[in-house]
Amino acid sequence: MTRLVGIFGYPLSHSLSPAIQQAAFDYHNIDAVYQAWQTPPEELASGVAKLREDRYLGANVTIPHKVKVMQHLDRIDRMAADIGAVNTIVKEGGELVGYNTDAYGFIKSLKDCSGLDPRGKRALLLGAGGAARAAAYALAKEGIARLTIANRTPSRAESLADEIKNLLPDVQAIATAEPGLIEAAQDADLIVNATSTGMRHSESEGQTMLTTGAIPPSAVVYDMVYNPPETPLMAEARRAGATVVGGLSMLIHQGAAAFQRWTGKEAPISVMMAAGKKALSQMVSS
Ligand code: NAP
Repeated sequence: MTRLVGIFGYPLSHSLSPAIQQAAFDYHNIDAVYQAWQTPPEELASGVAKLREDRYLGANVTIPHKVKVMQHLDRIDRMAADIGAVNTIVKEGGELVGYNTDAYGFIKSLKDCSGLDPRGKRALLLGAGGAARAAAYALAKEGIARLTIANRTPSRAESLADEIKNLLPDVQAIATAEPGLIEAAQDADLIVNATSTGMRHSESEGQTMLTTGAIPPSAVVYDMVYNPPETPLMAEARRAGATVVGGLSMLIHQGAAAFQRWTGKEAPISVMMAAGKKALSQMVSS
């Protein structure tokens, strides 16, 4: 029986996950097809219920369903519950279990691509949505010394800061519009963009919240956005002499962790990366 796996999202026209995951299934000769399941909110419950059928192996979940999907699952892994978002559904002993592999993907790619060990460092995190929540928890767990969370809507940054205070006492929330943003950037060892600013086809395409003068040459600047592969923030950071990491590596590693949970097999990272790069270049040139 050909097994089915897929991603729930809405809209879903720009997902690289089908290309990345199919490459991994094919590499291991697993008889499975990874599909893009464009799912409007009113169809999420029935879509998730279908996963209980034998032919389904599991699923990924993306915007806007990462929070709402949790109510349709039997169990939520501790890390996903802390983060408050699920991006991977795994079938375990007849149960649908929710995991969050974004946090792992973020830290793994940060360490692999920049060599930075977050322990004892100061970080500026742009954003307070699902991806920022995963990054904040991951950084807190890694022993970061200080975290400043900056968001367009300051109340969301404040709630996130309140939630992780028990893991990380030195955390503060600011608005991205405040002058304090530049100061926090200039003081940071690590700057992470977990907003969609600069993303292709978004309202903020071509924009960046920070420019060269605000970025220390000694900093690592990590942009979770992967389309375009070189975002305006990454270009500014490169001009400042900083170490720069783009979002594709995180996408690969969060996908690899999901693949391993579905199949029990080691994810072929280089195969998945090659497939991701190819699909991304086709997307960029289309
Ligand atoms: P989300 O939950 O919808 O959060 C979006 C965040 O971006 C919020 O902080 C939002 O601020 C901010 N934002 C949106 N438009 C903005 C604008 N024009 N100016 C300033 N801030 C803006 O989305 P998410 O899941 O966290 O994803 C955020 C980004 O990370 C997306 O670009 C996504 O593709 C990327 N991502 C990448 C990976 C990867 O593997 N590389 C994984 C997950 C996510 P408000 O709170 O003020 O609305």
